[in-house]
Amino acid sequence: MKVEIPKGHPRAESLRIREKLIEAFEAGVVARAGLIAHGRGEAFDYLLGEKTVQPAFEAVKAAAALLLTAEKPVISVNGNTAALAAEYVVALAEAVNAEIEVNLFYRTAQREEAIRNVLEKAGAKRVLGVGEEASARIPELGSERRRVDPRGILVADVVLVPLEDGDRTEALAKMGKKVIAVDLNPLSRTAQKAAITIVDNVVRAMPLLARTAEELKHEKKENLKQILQNFDNARNLGECIRLIKERLEELSGKGRFLELPKGENRDH
Ligand code: ATP
Ligand code: MG
Repeated sequence: MKVEIPKGHPRAESLRIREKLIEAFEAGVVARAGLIAHGRGEAFDYLLGEKTVQPAFEAVKAAAALLLTAEKPVISVNGNTAALAAEYVVALAEAVNAEIEVNLFYRTAQREEAIRNVLEKAGAKRVLGVGEEASARIPELGSERRRVDPRGILVADVVLVPLEDGDRTEALAKMGKKVIAVDLNPLSRTAQKAAITIVDNVVRAMPLLARTAEELKHEKKENLKQILQNFDNARNLGECIRLIKERLEELSGKGRFLELPKGENRDH
């Protein structure tokens, strides 16, 4: 059933994204738990003001620099990422010359194939990690996410993991890989364990990252390395948490909700 979202609705964008996820769930791309995980993300997006905050712009720049200086960068894709940002995954992969690999917590052959189809429709030429191709194993991981493609994540030096689980981020980091995460929750284990955490919604972060990588593509290696040297993930996460705190302080001080940005009413 397609739900009509009134044009002037104050939360139209957020509702449109929900509809997209529900449709992708019905098409077998998104897992049931993926719908719930999105809700957790939405809550943090609400606290951040539903916009890309300054520390996230900086993290995006560092992420682009890391991907562009990597030997073997891989973009790991799950159901939610495919549903919300497939075309930008493809654009980014082209800009930084990365492989795209399907990697799922709730792995089924149908869902892997459904995600591969979404990515291919968005223009991906090669999608790793589907079915028997994910024949290698990441040590120390219990879930199905330990299965990886020997041509992709297994041999990658840098892995971009939008919407990742904490255990896997840690396992990849232990294997010596540099992990870039996109996670709206600056407190999650993923956010804390990644080398670079972009605290932003994937729907905004992925287009921005693809565009930034395109812009930095012809930059000298030493300039890219300088960007990386100036970046400190713990400090960046601290700034995100402080932004939330300051925003809440300001709002609570005013004692009213009238000045919340773009229609944050409580109808939905
Ligand atoms: P962790 O395992 O890292 O400790 P968690 O268990 O709290 O995190 P998971 O359910 O494993 O969370 O993963 C979902 C994560 O993805 C949440 O941290 C949530 O904030 C984030 N998330 C969900 N939707 C989005 C989105 N659209 N953009 C960015 N982040 C999102
Ligand atoms: Mg988790």
